[in-house]
Amino acid sequence: MLASADTHCPYCSLQCGMRLISTSGEVKVEARNFPTNRGGLCQKGWTAAELLHHEQRLTTPLLRSAKGEPLQPATWEQALTRIVTEIERTQNEHGRDSVGVFGGGGLTNEKAYLLGKFARVALRTSQIDYNGRFCMSSAAAANLKAFGLDRGLPFPLADIPQAQAILLVGSNAGETMPPVMQYFQTQRQNGGALIVVDPRATPTAQAATLHLQITPGTDTALGNGLLYLAIQEGFLDREFIAARTTGFEAAKRACAYYWPARVERITGIPEKQLVAAARLLGQASTAMVLTARGPEQQSRGVENVLAFINLVLALGKAGKPFCGYGCLTGQGNGQGGREHGQKADQLPGYRKIDNPDHRAWIANVWGVPESEIPGPGRSAYEMLDKLGTPGGVHALMVFGSNIVVSAPRAAHIEGRLRALDFLVVSDFFLSETAEHADVVLPCTQWAEEEGTMTNLEGRVILRRKSADAPGQARSDLEILSELATRLGAKSSFPADAPSVFTELRRASAGGAADYAGITYERIIAEEGVFWPCPSEDHPGTPRLFESGSWNPVAKGAGPYYFPDGKARFNVSVYTPPAERGKGFASALVAAVSAEALAAGRRFCFLFTDLANPVSNHVYEKIGYRPVADWADYFFA
Ligand code: SF4
Repeated sequence: MLASADTHCPYCSLQCGMRLISTSGEVKVEARNFPTNRGGLCQKGWTAAELLHHEQRLTTPLLRSAKGEPLQPATWEQALTRIVTEIERTQNEHGRDSVGVFGGGGLTNEKAYLLGKFARVALRTSQIDYNGRFCMSSAAAANLKAFGLDRGLPFPLADIPQAQAILLVGSNAGETMPPVMQYFQTQRQNGGALIVVDPRATPTAQAATLHLQITPGTDTALGNGLLYLAIQEGFLDREFIAARTTGFEAAKRACAYYWPARVERITGIPEKQLVAAARLLGQASTAMVLTARGPEQQSRGVENVLAFINLVLALGKAGKPFCGYGCLTGQGNGQGGREHGQKADQLPGYRKIDNPDHRAWIANVWGVPESEIPGPGRSAYEMLDKLGTPGGVHALMVFGSNIVVSAPRAAHIEGRLRALDFLVVSDFFLSETAEHADVVLPCTQWAEEEGTMTNLEGRVILRRKSADAPGQARSDLEILSELATRLGAKSSFPADAPSVFTELRRASAGGAADYAGITYERIIAEEGVFWPCPSEDHPGTPRLFESGSWNPVAKGAGPYYFPDGKARFNVSVYTPPAERGKGFASALVAAVSAEALAAGRRFCFLFTDLANPVSNHVYEKIGYRPVADWADYFFA
């Protein structure tokens, strides 16, 4: 154990640098000057070490002899033997997919990688997913649709102060991620404008140049309304749109129905403020749009984010210094945790599990026949919803997640956990989920292990060991390695983080999230390395999408991760959020049509769902002018 170690706070995606000092069994936190936090920490970081020696830490495995019996301390041998017996019994009875694995966005990259390999190679099950699906996956999906690649921020935090205008949507960073606010403060001191979109007057909103107090669930209307104004006021970057994007005309047609008065009616944001926001963004030479859980954690989350990405593309504020769209990821390894194989549809390095070339590459790295790697499984909620049902998972292994607290419809999912034949939970406390387990495994915490994390910027950083684990706690890597051996896995399962990372680098090589050139030594020397980094002499990629940046998909055709190298506009249509329940939609339609009739705009009611080709066909049949003409009319 080191007396002092430079490491990172475990909690959120900023991954603030901190120093841990161990003296006489006590661990103290000191702030550290790292490029993300620049010496700052929030209360969560300052108190992070208090949980290391907490009296309620799990120190031995716990085992339930039968359903209804209490959990009792057990040896590791008893616990591991029971797990292997139950896995084999379940798979013999119900098939390989009857055993499932559930991971988390707080696991290190090494753990997330080994967990994915454990599921596919040791268990040979397709049923693996993780709690990141409940976090910012709307932004991930939108990023993939628009840019072909999903990385939280496509630029370093250090770019923020140079942006002349920033639209920050649905983030209260001032309270959830306080050290990051220094970048926004400097941006404002530099004369930049910060526009915050939030239904509440949060401390972040109060610090803004302009606060757009949006009605929850109406983000798509706001994004489209700002695009409408950008078009009307002549802020389009036509050269960028023509050279770097596709799909603008369809997006333009779709936003034709988001005139300011209507958007004010939907969003509750006064027309004057909408115009002011559009002008701040449109007149700035550099601008960014950042989203967080506000617009993302909605039934229409993908559409919401796409509407804001359309705005960024239309203004030509992408792929240039101090510009772009970014998502402020949440969990500590919310970024890296979704790159290396713990998702149901994915293999390491952002490879796809249904792509034959990708499967062949990973099979070669793992040393198993490609045919033995299962296909795509169910995503998180779908897997949890089917627990204990015919065709569903009957034995579940949970690592780094407290499902009972964090899953949607948590009470329902708790019921599904009770329907399982067998549940294993690896955790450092007896969480609400662990209380349901048949076997609980005590695992190490952040300061008791090493491994890499990838922060919201795509910067791969190193977590270092600075304290001993209490009692018999073991790292998840050791647990997975031991279980894989006992299950007779064909591939090797290293139990130490450096060996796993070496294998992860090989597995990710050539993928979109390429870590091949990243080493622990480089991470320390360079204060983190940004992926993609395809070789040890590559500098890493702080800014994605710049001309000439490394891109294995476009291969020189352009900066975006599509074969033609161009970004995509996506039609995004506002519909009332499902969260509001039935009845709201008809009330809204009535209100909008009344307003439209009063304004003499008889057509607007009919065209609220312009994205729907069937509707367009009907409109044309009944004699309305083609949609494109209407759009031209609006923006004439
Ligand atoms: Fe930890 Fe995030 Fe707080 Fe930094 S901002 S100290 S990473 S919780």
